[in-house]
Amino acid sequence: MRIGLYPGTFDPITLGHLDIICRAAVLVDRLVIGVAINRDKGPLFTLEERVKMIEAECTTLSNETGCEIVVHPFENLLIDCAHDVGAQMIVRGLRAVADFEYEYQMVGMNRALDSSVETVFLMAEARYQAIASKLVKEIARLGGDIGKFVPPAVEKALKGKFG
Ligand code: ADP
Repeated sequence: MRIGLYPGTFDPITLGHLDIICRAAVLVDRLVIGVAINRDKGPLFTLEERVKMIEAECTTLSNETGCEIVVHPFENLLIDCAHDVGAQMIVRGLRAVADFEYEYQMVGMNRALDSSVETVFLMAEARYQAIASKLVKEIARLGGDIGKFVPPAVEKALKGKFG
């Protein structure tokens, strides 16, 4: 059974993340979405809120692709999380050059920790490539239209946070 782990903060899940999830879902039998608790980043949404939003968006995706999609919060080392869920593959999304440097280092370090776990990079469709949760939150905070960046339920949740 091919198991992939797609880790991130997902604060909140965006159309960019969902595009990557769709692409990853056709490559594996089970896709585990690893939600980093990431207290240091001071997430806007609680872990429970982030998990619920991902689960809600992924139910139809799972039915459409035939891939089992599960959500797994984690706080330990990424490579240990991969072992915990039995993943042979870590999935990451690549946006611009800015992502490359960090991802390059991550692959090197994770490979040193366990070379049997491969990291696979996927790119979202062009119109979703620039989307970043951080910017979406900023736009929502300032009252801008975020409908092009997140699914309707997430848009509603963001509006709820910022009144
Ligand atoms: P963000 O960087 O938006 O806060 P996360 O930390 O949750 O998002 O990112 C999880 C993974 O999803 C990372 O590999 C990140 O590069 C990827 N990702 C996020 N947004 C996009 C996007 N618009 N296109 C491609 N990959 C993305």
